[in-house]
Amino acid sequence: MAPVPSNERIFDHDVRVLICDECGAPLPAPLDGGAVACQFCGATFDLAARAEVPLRGYRSVGLDEAKRLETLRKQDVDPIFAPPGLDAFVFGGSLVPGKIAEAEQTFRVVLRQAAAIGSVETENSLLFFARIIVDYHLAQRDYQRLRATLEAALEVARSPRARQILYAFLARSAARVGAVQAAEAWLAPCDARAQNLEMDTSYRVARAYVSTAKGDHQTALDVLGPELGAVPIQDTTECFASVLRANALEHIHGVDVAIAEVQRGCERGSFLIAAACVYNNPTLNLCPQSLALARRHVSLSKKSLVFEPALWISIYLAVVAALLFSSVRNSQLFTGMQFLALLVSFWALPLVTLIVRLNVTEFRRRRAAKSRAFARENAR
Ligand SMILES: [Zn+2]
Repeated sequence: MAPVPSNERIFDHDVRVLICDECGAPLPAPLDGGAVACQFCGATFDLAARAEVPLRGYRSVGLDEAKRLETLRKQDVDPIFAPPGLDAFVFGGSLVPGKIAEAEQTFRVVLRQAAAIGSVETENSLLFFARIIVDYHLAQRDYQRLRATLEAALEVARSPRARQILYAFLARSAARVGAVQAAEAWLAPCDARAQNLEMDTSYRVARAYVSTAKGDHQTALDVLGPELGAVPIQDTTECFASVLRANALEHIHGVDVAIAEVQRGCERGSFLIAAACVYNNPTLNLCPQSLALARRHVSLSKKSLVFEPALWISIYLAVVAALLFSSVRNSQLFTGMQFLALLVSFWALPLVTLIVRLNVTEFRRRRAAKSRAFARENAR
């Protein structure tokens, strides 16, 4: 019974950590397989060797890069986060509190199903559970269970899509704890020129993440493109990609260029998502200056939005006062009721403006909260 690797080695490529099918504990296993016993429950397993499937191959086909990007852009639609029937496990993009045991139990059932038959539905469930369980262990800083969850999923994933998403996830997890060599090893089998947007985005963001952890900001910028929209990125990851891009820009071209990118990125998400990306990845020290400065700029312009209705009300009141004043001189033209009607009609417009403004603000707030919940998983 080999012990579970320590946190320093937990993301290493040359160790293998699976999940005990019996009790769910991390299960260290030799790379070339054989008989293994769980050190927690004593259950024994006869494992095959780890399968390494390189996902490359498109480069040799010689697909034109412009054509590839066009293919990817056509796939830019909102992905479904929870597969049918699994909504009960998530709330606001995260695992429902108290459901971790049930989620891990169901995940083990899905692992068995995926090992037996690798259908698209099973792989979607596999990726869904891997995401929410990894998210949970990340918050708990339980890197051993996190690693075991990702590798157990990887062992049964068959499609290049699922495998690339999981490789990229492992690379990011390794880079997060500073294991950049291990991160490079997980990225190595990935296809840098995939024709599937989910695969491509996973690779781009993981590549940029690992390069950022190494201080190689130019590579991060090259893979994410010089500005938002330069390369297609999946919607749910766009804000995070934007923060990584802004960070690279801040280091290469200075803080002003970075502020502009943060603002562009946050138009589609919110500053809270961007701030969460920075907060959840403390080892990268992302956007050290630009995020705070961009935020200050926007909060000032939001203040002017609030004062705008007040300005309009003042203008209307001034007009009403002027008309009232002029009507006093020609009092035979206006009755008292007409004064009242005039006053009401002039008040109605600024009032409507104010109500519409408040509603727009509320709508934006709700939309931001919704996208925040949706992007939480990607922010980590
Ligand atoms: Zn066990």
